[in-house]
Amino acid sequence: MSLIVQKYGGSSVSDAEALKRVAARIVATRNAGNDVVVAVSAMGDTTDDLIDLAHAVCENPSEREMDILLTAGERISMALLTIAIRAQGADARGLTGPAAGVVTTAHHGKARIIDVTPGRIEKALADGEIVIVAGFQGLSHESKDITTLGRGGTDTTAVALAAALHADVCEIYTDVDGVFSADPRVVPRARKLDHVFYEEMLELAASGAKVLVPRCVEYARRNNVPIHVRSSFSDKDGTWIVGESDQGEAMEEPIIAGVAHDHSQAKITVVGLPDVPGTAARLFETVAAAEISIDMIVQNVSAHDTGVTDISFTLPANDGAKAQAAIEAKRSEIGYEEVRYDDTIGKLSLIGAGMRTHSGVSAKLFGALRDAGINIEMISTSDIRISVITRADQLNAAVRAVHTAFDLDADQNEAVVYGGTGR
Ligand code: ASP
Ligand code: MG
Repeated sequence: MSLIVQKYGGSSVSDAEALKRVAARIVATRNAGNDVVVAVSAMGDTTDDLIDLAHAVCENPSEREMDILLTAGERISMALLTIAIRAQGADARGLTGPAAGVVTTAHHGKARIIDVTPGRIEKALADGEIVIVAGFQGLSHESKDITTLGRGGTDTTAVALAAALHADVCEIYTDVDGVFSADPRVVPRARKLDHVFYEEMLELAASGAKVLVPRCVEYARRNNVPIHVRSSFSDKDGTWIVGESDQGEAMEEPIIAGVAHDHSQAKITVVGLPDVPGTAARLFETVAAAEISIDMIVQNVSAHDTGVTDISFTLPANDGAKAQAAIEAKRSEIGYEEVRYDDTIGKLSLIGAGMRTHSGVSAKLFGALRDAGINIEMISTSDIRISVITRADQLNAAVRAVHTAFDLDADQNEAVVYGGTGR
């Protein structure tokens, strides 16, 4: 007998029919002799609709009440799913995040899970019940308020429950068959990956792949929770996300796991900075004070002896206006000539743990982009990732070219998108 934690996303529970279908799947897992705990997201686009509604009554709604509002979405799906399961003859109990023992920091909208005290879940399991937990929410002991974990937070709820309960697996059900070597909407020949290492999944998620939120992968890695990403619309085996040490030695590892892309970035170039100690510190202290997280940084010191330098960096385009305003406000202190803003960039990232031990990966990547006639504007690397910035309108072609160059193309189209929006 295993203990299985399952997570169902909004697109898997979008209406009454979908809820009944998911309920049947949960009951089948239970009838196969497993203990089952489920974390469920709000139905369909409920969260977005509630956010729109709040902004329709107020431009700047209070964060505390936003969390009360948004957590209602997951309570609705949790209650309905529990009701649907009971209607199918199985014993089930629904719990809100706080009732399930999810304890978080007090940071509204972005709370982090600091503890899970699963006493009530364990009691229900001992009573032979299936447990359905409202995802994306917890309680802050500090503020005594309900909190949310950030968009996509039900993934993190599921992994945190799996860790606290020492579950055998955390199954993340979504509307695609698993994690692919690229976004199938861009690369129709993308390949479903049988397994991905935590490190690779972290880089993929942080580089624009939308299957899992980075925080949930981080949590799984820290607690060594095996994740199985699979479709709630089919019975196919999906993608296993595991630690590198969990893999048998006999396994022949592919060098590259996949190619991620991100259209949501923008680039700021600060032109004519004095080439003296402290310039970069002043610039990035200004950006950090505006609570903007940046990604790539490139500095070019002029080859001529001009005494000035340019610094470019990338950031989420959503933060573009805020960053520009912050830098403008410190113009005299930082002492630059001009700020340029460009949101027509795209970011491509090639990711694979095998890069650590294989040479020539970057040469092959740059060669593929050259052959496709694509100019590289910025480059950054980690030990298992190479990212490049291109023009936005060339990004999709770049992804396809690189995917082919690294022999990642499947023999036929493997990807089926069953519904929803990919979350
Ligand atoms: N309902 C929340 C969202 O849409 C949480 C989740 O789906 O995981 O972000
Ligand atoms: Mg959702």
